Amino acid sequence: MAFELEALPYAADALEPHIDKTTMEIHHDRHHQAYVDNLNKAIAGTDAENLSLLDIIKNVSKYSAAVRNNGGGHYNHSLFWKVLGPNAGGAPTGELAEAINAAFGSFDELKKQLQAAGATRFGSGWAWLIVGADGKLAVTSTPNQDNPLMDVAEVKGTPILGIDVWEHAYYLKFQNKRPAYLEEIFNVINWDAVAQNYAAAK
Ligand code: MN
Repeated sequence: MAFELEALPYAADALEPHIDKTTMEIHHDRHHQAYVDNLNKAIAGTDAENLSLLDIIKNVSKYSAAVRNNGGGHYNHSLFWKVLGPNAGGAPTGELAEAINAAFGSFDELKKQLQAAGATRFGSGWAWLIVGADGKLAVTSTPNQDNPLMDVAEVKGTPILGIDVWEHAYYLKFQNKRPAYLEEIFNVINWDAVAQNYAAAK
């Protein structure tokens, strides 16, 4: 079974003016599509062809660099599109808000830590909010298309929010100003979706 690219869950211009339409189109239709296509090529004829994406990710050290990079790319972007949305932003509520306060002291502190994790990730990678093995929330970051579910990750956990800090995620609108992108993206984080991920992960 080959992997397939799902459509964006909203129009490409739905995150305007925060994330521009052209960036969304290129990011989803070309970059994410390439991860899917290259993952399918990398697993063709191997035992990984019959595994779920999650099973591949969790045991990624058994596979080639192409599987790690493109399997991670497919997993990470599939999560990313779903934790963004129009009419979003603001702050989390309910159980997720309580867990954030317990782990970080406040939502502002979580935001600061996510922005720092993204800004200090040298080169390409991701900033993550994860549920660790202890059930607590934590912020971490990974290089390239790695993620905290991978057996190779330094800090492991279940990602409930991922922020893409590859230049392809922001360069057209923000150029080299990654911190400006990391401020703007908080206007389009869908905290209801993150809360659902939290409920499923804990
Ligand atoms: Mn990306």
